[in-house]
Amino acid sequence: MVNPSDERVKTHKWFRWQQRPPEPDLPVPDLKAFVPEGAPPAAALIADRTAQALAGWPILSLRLLGTMKGNQAFGSNPGKWARAHLGDVIDPFCICPGDRCRFDDCPAGQLMGRHATEGRPEGEAWAPLVVRANDMPTGKVSERTSLKMEVVLAGEQSINQAPMFIEALKDLPPPPPKAPVVSWSTVQALVLGDEGELRFRKVDMSGPPPLLHLERLAEPKVRRTRLTMTFLTATPLSRMGEEGRPTADLTLIVDRMTRSMGAWMGRTGHKGPRLPVDDLLRSAAAATISSDNSRVIEIPAGMMGAAGARDAASAGRVPALTGSITWKGEFTALAPLLRAAHHLGMGPGRQHGLGQIVIR
Ligand SMILES: [Zn+2]
Repeated sequence: MVNPSDERVKTHKWFRWQQRPPEPDLPVPDLKAFVPEGAPPAAALIADRTAQALAGWPILSLRLLGTMKGNQAFGSNPGKWARAHLGDVIDPFCICPGDRCRFDDCPAGQLMGRHATEGRPEGEAWAPLVVRANDMPTGKVSERTSLKMEVVLAGEQSINQAPMFIEALKDLPPPPPKAPVVSWSTVQALVLGDEGELRFRKVDMSGPPPLLHLERLAEPKVRRTRLTMTFLTATPLSRMGEEGRPTADLTLIVDRMTRSMGAWMGRTGHKGPRLPVDDLLRSAAAATISSDNSRVIEIPAGMMGAAGARDAASAGRVPALTGSITWKGEFTALAPLLRAAHHLGMGPGRQHGLGQIVIR
């Protein structure tokens, strides 16, 4: 039997059942990214290669507008509610036996990745589904309150299941006891207009799916010499099994952003040139922090969508970043990557509403 306090010193992890020790904790090392040596090529070339890597990755960004029925409570974490709600909507389509959705040809799995169909919502880090529930209310909500959240589907397989998903949203199954009763009256898709402007349009799945072409995004505008990134929801930056504290270092953030996006592209079946990770890092390394209003909080590790799920690794807590950081530098090279991350979020845990970021 491992003594809990010994375990703590070794792992620097917090467990819910542990008490904060009377002595200050051992200092936790900062997470670091490795920046390859050498100067980056021209910014426009890096931006172009990033756009080429993103091109053709099918993304469907949906906005759900609805209302609340009755007076009920959403709790303090709308992402958690939203993920549980989407499980209720999608899991009736699961064809897998037992309490885990795991077949490659299962419609529910194609939308949500492998996940538990019973008990606490849980699923893999590279799920094709992103929840953006930052605009959802928290706490007690009164009858007829308007509701708004976004769901992003990545990859052809999941988008093929979108018509079924959208139909199911219009005719929701009864919620579990005590869960808020909602109805979604409108589902819209985010699309690019003729001038490259973004707009939400009522979704029509009778023709080709209304995809969001990441490589053609012109919004949000990324300023050339000044970048502000706001982590609207907790954003974990550590890689699997890695321990350390997230910081405002832009190379760290770009490293984790590119690696998680690259892995996600692969897992959702996107075949294209790779993101120019090394040059993006070299480019990010020149930035300096202008103001740092971020803070580190701890979240349950299970929300990161640990692969294999219900093991000991999903029982701990992991540090995550929230708040806002501004850097000075030259951001032309990073712009396409940042715009994509603005719309997709970053890091594992996107299906639980984590990693929702805003760029300006
Ligand atoms: Zn299934």
